[in-house]
Amino acid sequence: MTIDLETWAKERGVKYFMISYTDLFGGQRAKLVPTQAIADMQKDGAGFAGFATWLDLTPAHPDLFAIPDASSAIQLPWKKDVAWVAADCVMDDKPVEQAPRVLLKKLVAEAAGQGLRVKTGVEPEFFLITPDGSKISDEFDAAEKPCYDQQALLRRYDVIAEICDSMLELGWKPYQNDHEDANGQFEMNWEYDDALATADKHSFFKFMVKSIAEKHGLRATFMPKPFKGLTGNGCHAHISVWDIDGKVNAFADKAMPFGLSAQGKTFLGGIMKHASALAAVTNPTVNSYKRINAPRTISGATWAPNTVTWTGNNRTHMVRVPGPGRFELRLPDGAVNPYLLQAIIIAAGLSGVRSKADPGPHYDIDMYKDGHTVKDAPKLPLNLLDALREYEKDAELRGAMGEEFSAAYLKLKHGEWSNYCAQFTAWERDTTLDI
Ligand code: ADP
Ligand code: MG
Ligand code: MG
Ligand code: MG
Ligand code: MG
Repeated sequence: MTIDLETWAKERGVKYFMISYTDLFGGQRAKLVPTQAIADMQKDGAGFAGFATWLDLTPAHPDLFAIPDASSAIQLPWKKDVAWVAADCVMDDKPVEQAPRVLLKKLVAEAAGQGLRVKTGVEPEFFLITPDGSKISDEFDAAEKPCYDQQALLRRYDVIAEICDSMLELGWKPYQNDHEDANGQFEMNWEYDDALATADKHSFFKFMVKSIAEKHGLRATFMPKPFKGLTGNGCHAHISVWDIDGKVNAFADKAMPFGLSAQGKTFLGGIMKHASALAAVTNPTVNSYKRINAPRTISGATWAPNTVTWTGNNRTHMVRVPGPGRFELRLPDGAVNPYLLQAIIIAAGLSGVRSKADPGPHYDIDMYKDGHTVKDAPKLPLNLLDALREYEKDAELRGAMGEEFSAAYLKLKHGEWSNYCAQFTAWERDTTLDI
């Protein structure tokens, strides 16, 4: 049964809705709609000029309507007058296929058509920094190995606890919060869910962390590598696939190595096969490539991959199988679009299941120390342009994500790369002035 948003709002004292959609670059775009007007908007959607956001549209296109998915509505725990609701983009009465949430729904349906239900958990790391963005916010958080620093964690108790209390109130089942491997970096974990629900929660989490940090006079960033020499912001995804009722984990088989079933291995095979191309989505910014393939950080390790390899419970590879029935993709970073992350996991995974893809050998070595001994595994793309070219070359993955999305994404991301190339940097002056 569809929730009637007007009634829902009146029961909770909600005065405004943010009808929110996510564009190709992961930006959340919203209109603030008074509850009095929500009934019509729930039916017809809120109107936007799509070109004004990161979608491949022109100023001449008709209105883009964002139709709220009422089941995703959340009353903001830190501002109870307002509710956020994720929306699906429609134009001329047709779903906009390049819109990330529309695309994810399509892929979830495709998996369902094969009797599969993908469940995932994400780990979006973030830094708490000063409002001007120039440095971390806690000057005493300066240890060489700051991971799990008890003292620094408690100095940020007010912010972290407010976010965690919010997740508890929302029923997300958060279970741990910690100081991560970089100075000023934190991670908060909540329970995995269906891919679409996780994408909505991931989006809302970013909005919530930024908002609550601002409320406390700080700023939160999910930028992949905000500080040279410090560990970057990953956004690992843990992935399992279940039967359609969500009762039986199709990835679990205790008799198999690492407890990963034959089907789980083919899904993993799809991820491995398409890894270099899917990096264009999981690592979507110029800055992303300063987190992967990175030199050692001050703490001793980047905790990010550089090669397309998988293993058991060992955090130096692109994929880790931490226990039976799931695997962890460690490639995505904090800039990843929450909907496209889930979409590309399903697209690549299903392609692996279809073709019975073999993930190849597992290398149970320390990749940071002995990675050079692995000769037959591809290196991850070195920059955004290489990743975009890999994506362009991968007709199967492009098709699985849909040509409309793929063309739009490549066009806008190539534009971003061109903008980057047009920058004049201090580094090139320093190294070229006296040539
Ligand atoms: P780590 O830091 O060791 O990678 P975390 O505890 O930070 O692990 O995050 C693990 C994530 O994996 C959480 O979101 C958790 O809910 C999720 N997860 C656990 N089991 C499964 C599963 N079977 N399928 C998908 N996600 C899972
Ligand atoms: Mg106007
Ligand atoms: Mg973690
Ligand atoms: Mg982490
Ligand atoms: Mg992890």
